[in-house]
Amino acid sequence: MTSLIATLTSDRDLLLSGLSLVVSIALCPLALVMFFRAMASHGRLRLAWLLAAATAFGAGIWGLALLSHVLFAATTRLAEAPLLLGLSLVEAVTGALGAFSLWSRSHGQPSFIMLGGAMVALAVVAMHYTGLAAHPVLLPPVGTGADLPGIAQILIVLGGVALLILFLGAVVTVVDVRFVLRRAEEAQRLRQLADSAFEGLLIHRDGIILDVNTSLTALVGQPREVLIGAHILDFIALSSHALIRERLTTKPSRIDEFEIVLPDGTRRVAEVLSRPILHGGRPATVAAVRDISERKQAAARIEHLARHDPLTGLPNRVKFLALLKDILARADQAEAFVGLLVLDIDRFKFVNGLYGHDAGDRLLRAVARRLASLVKEDTHDQGLVARLGGDEFAIALPPARQAGIAATIAERLQAALANPFEISGQSVQISTRVGIAFAPQHGTTVAALVNSADTALFWAKRDERAKTRIFEPAMESELQLRRRMERDLRLAVQNHTFKVHYQPIYAIDGRTLVGFEALLRWFQKDLGWTAPSRFIPLAEESGMIGPLGRLVLETACAEAADWPEALHVAVNLSPIQFQTDDLVATVTETLARTKLAPARLELEITEGVLIDDTERARAQLMALKALGVRLVLDDFGTGYSSLSYLGRFPFDKLKIDRSFVSRLADDAGAAAIVRAISALAHSLGLAVTAEGVETTAQLELLRDARCTELQGFLLGRPMTASAAARLIRQQRKMTSSAA
Ligand code: C2E
Ligand code: MG
Ligand code: MG
Repeated sequence: MTSLIATLTSDRDLLLSGLSLVVSIALCPLALVMFFRAMASHGRLRLAWLLAAATAFGAGIWGLALLSHVLFAATTRLAEAPLLLGLSLVEAVTGALGAFSLWSRSHGQPSFIMLGGAMVALAVVAMHYTGLAAHPVLLPPVGTGADLPGIAQILIVLGGVALLILFLGAVVTVVDVRFVLRRAEEAQRLRQLADSAFEGLLIHRDGIILDVNTSLTALVGQPREVLIGAHILDFIALSSHALIRERLTTKPSRIDEFEIVLPDGTRRVAEVLSRPILHGGRPATVAAVRDISERKQAAARIEHLARHDPLTGLPNRVKFLALLKDILARADQAEAFVGLLVLDIDRFKFVNGLYGHDAGDRLLRAVARRLASLVKEDTHDQGLVARLGGDEFAIALPPARQAGIAATIAERLQAALANPFEISGQSVQISTRVGIAFAPQHGTTVAALVNSADTALFWAKRDERAKTRIFEPAMESELQLRRRMERDLRLAVQNHTFKVHYQPIYAIDGRTLVGFEALLRWFQKDLGWTAPSRFIPLAEESGMIGPLGRLVLETACAEAADWPEALHVAVNLSPIQFQTDDLVATVTETLARTKLAPARLELEITEGVLIDDTERARAQLMALKALGVRLVLDDFGTGYSSLSYLGRFPFDKLKIDRSFVSRLADDAGAAAIVRAISALAHSLGLAVTAEGVETTAQLELLRDARCTELQGFLLGRPMTASAAARLIRQQRKMTSSAA
């Protein structure tokens, strides 16, 4: 105690001792700061910080220990054993290094922490023992103390060394902390930048997620805490696992697409682009992930639209042809037949015209549904139904051993489609036509097969008896003929090469001319005269009936305007003209132009216009009637022959078809029917014309049946306009001479 006091009484020594004490103690918190820096660093940097921290700490405790030795033992002879002193410093530093590195790896494990503590304790003990070994007691006696360094010198050295360590440590730490703070700020800025990115950003090492931005958490539907530390595959659909695994092992470079599964099970398609980076000083991968689900959906929708009919949802022509190609390839391998059915709705235009386009659409949808379910049933879901356009559907049957099955299926489909449809509260009945072709007989390629089936359909549509036709090679040449005719027809309308002929109509006496029926004639140089029954349907199909009908109306009205006022002219109208033309306007304008009195024009309409009692047909007929023209129901006795039409529509006249008239003489039943029809027409205030009168016997019977007018070869054939004019002059002479 006395020696301590004595030592401390020296002012200078006291100052130095105090300074050494402060420096030594200050080294400990500095060591602690350095340790925390080590904890926040990786790799070599961490090692360097650990070493620095251990050196500061070791030096600190070593300094304190040495000070105590010097002060308490009041000896300066310690410096005589510099090796031992150095060794004790190394022990302190090594112990601290061991403890720090243990603590840095402890991850909060008590055993590690305690082991580290024990290491420090051990180091302190070792250091003290080594220090004691350097004590003068243990040292061999030496000469006088005069040549030995005094306490002050030791303290100066000690303090200097410690001060140097403290200073260097402090400088490095301050610089580093500022650097770290700046880095933290930078990291914060980067984080904000990353979080504000629309793309999901993800850093991973071997699939283990190290960091994510906000967009990625939103994309995956998982919070950051769940994502970090998890494996990428945990959030990826199974279907994409193989791809991701492959990308994890190979160098990621190109853009990949994969499916993400959200916690609620929904899936998203993502596009990812990754590249290597250094993260925390070690190689990792950064991936930019973009949600392309909507883009994909839009693309899929476009793709669907391009390949499906929007109205019925069935595959369209494009898709059908592609699928048919596959079916044909399969059939070819199996040496099997493929039946192709092309189906068309009879008079679909009427449904559209009479019920409106909305009803037409509904009907098409209903037909599509019925067809699809029937084909599914009949082919065990192996058949293919498509809408080729308009009212045309196609059915490809799966490859089969026999071709015959196709006709059976066609019949079943037609029977099922003949059952009425409920459309907008109305019952609509349709009939269909089917063309059939087989691969390989009628075509081995898609184009050839479809063409054959189309050709068969074309003829099925024109066949009164058969509603289904199987392709025959002869159909082809005939079709070509028709196509040529269609082209010629178009040219003929343009060039006005049609002629209108006039067939006289007489009063029941068979002598008094009452008017003419305008009948269209077409003369072609190489083909001669073509009958209207051949070209009118063609004109109706090809859309030429409009201009052609206007041409006849115009010509007939202009011609009749020159006739005596007592004579009328009858013009035939096609049902198509009722749908496509503004007939009322056309008739009004034509009458005005030709200055023909409306009462002298008769419009002949077939039952086709009236198939169903609709407002549209009725309204048009009413409007025509209001013009003052007379309406005639033509070809009565063919078609539907519904007497109820007579009451419901504003007709003035009924024309009994020549098929009835021709049977009159030898069919008592026919005669009875004609009488009944005539009586009914009279009771409704309608005139009755009999057409196709060829014999006097027929004429007599028609007179008995109280018909009002007669038309037929017996009385006069259709003739040119000039011949009609001559006939009129003759008639005049006859009547005037008779008078
Ligand atoms: P339709 O309106 O019933 O015309 C009467 C048809 O019977 C005419 O045939 C006429 O030549 C024929 N015919 C008249 N008397 C006799 C006879 O005693 N014996 C025989 N075997 N036939 C007779 P055409 O001129 O061949 O016309 C056929 C059909 O073509 C017409 O039947 C009509 O539906 C249609 N048609 C003719 N011209 C036109 C037209 O300008 N527009 C429209 N839309 N259809 C027309
Ligand atoms: Mg007629
Ligand atoms: Mg007729």
